[in-house]
Amino acid sequence: MADTAPAAAPSSCLLGNYNRAAVRFVRGEGCWLIDDAGTRYIDAFAGVAVSTLGHGHPALVSAISHQAATLIHVSNYYASPQQEQLAARLVAHSFPGRVLFCNSGTESNEAAYKAARAWSNIVHDGRKPRIISFAGGFHGRTIGAVSVTANPKYREPFAPLPQPLTEFLPFGDVAAFNAAMADNVCAVWIEPVQGEGGVMVAPPGFLAAVRAACTRHGALMVVDEVQTGISRSGKPFAYQYDGATPDIMCLAKGLGGGVPIGATMFGPSAWDLLKPGMHGTTFGGNPLAMAAGLAVTELAFTPDFLTHVNARSEQLITGLRRVFAGQEVRGRGLLLGVQLDADPTAMVAAARAHGAIVGPAGNNTLRLAPPLIISAAEIDELLTRLGAARRQVTGAA
Ligand code: PLP
Repeated sequence: MADTAPAAAPSSCLLGNYNRAAVRFVRGEGCWLIDDAGTRYIDAFAGVAVSTLGHGHPALVSAISHQAATLIHVSNYYASPQQEQLAARLVAHSFPGRVLFCNSGTESNEAAYKAARAWSNIVHDGRKPRIISFAGGFHGRTIGAVSVTANPKYREPFAPLPQPLTEFLPFGDVAAFNAAMADNVCAVWIEPVQGEGGVMVAPPGFLAAVRAACTRHGALMVVDEVQTGISRSGKPFAYQYDGATPDIMCLAKGLGGGVPIGATMFGPSAWDLLKPGMHGTTFGGNPLAMAAGLAVTELAFTPDFLTHVNARSEQLITGLRRVFAGQEVRGRGLLLGVQLDADPTAMVAAARAHGAIVGPAGNNTLRLAPPLIISAAEIDELLTRLGAARRQVTGAA
């Protein structure tokens, strides 16, 4: 009997792969999250740079409600006017391209990875086996995406990874990069601002150097804008700061404002690589996700919206430099990092205790990525709460 008796019910049936804080959010209003006790928190993390329009934005709610009542899903066996419309809008604000929709950032990178292998194997008879990426980069959790992600903690438990292994070079070191480049490189992966890696902005000229070497050696430049894209950086896409147009661009997060979505954009050099039958996904580009993407981008690419992001960015940078005097504040637009002296966990918890949601990033960095609609008054409130959190952590009066 004892052998077959059911085990005691676990306290949670969820897999233990996340370290979750105990707070339970039950509602969102604009830049505010409300927990099950009614406590209000100002959201300066946007669910890891996702909720572009904040919570419950009427344009997004109305678009997805209408689409849900009309048609949620069809499959990619049929034409999709919504995909056509969103693809055309993304192209209009970036570069001539063709768009493949998927459901997440890692999937977007996975499609880019397959295109890169096809570039070597099909177009170049296998003569371009090498992939280059950069220390501090993060590209997702599927096997292709972890294989181009430098941090060993994300990769090593899952070896053996696709061969030959990706080569990881110092981020921003043009000389090291140029020395490694050769005609046998099929692709170079880069984030214009490394989000997970600690909000590290590529030094001026680095993306342009990557672009030039990729062109010289016939390699695909893959720019991962999963975190920086859709106006978070203060431009529609962060590569635009450097004028270094990629061959492939990866998008997700902010594009759907909270509805799962991903997109991979292929420029002319890459848009013929994935032929019918070579890649696909059941949910990718379904009408519900497209309605969300259309609602977000209808607002987020307008000049007024971008002006707002840049004004709030300046305000937040100035305020963070005051609150965290002595610490480096860096980033672009509303993707900002504060360099702390220690792991940010204590600061994140103290901020939460004072009613402000911020997040960690690598390299002892406190990461802020608020909804892009955050107001000047909300930034002032956020700074007051972060000031209290910092005093609590440092013990300052
Ligand atoms: N690429 C970048 C730059 C990211 O920041 C992330 C997630 O943080 C990903 C890819 C993976 O995206 P997802 O978690 O949607 O798979």
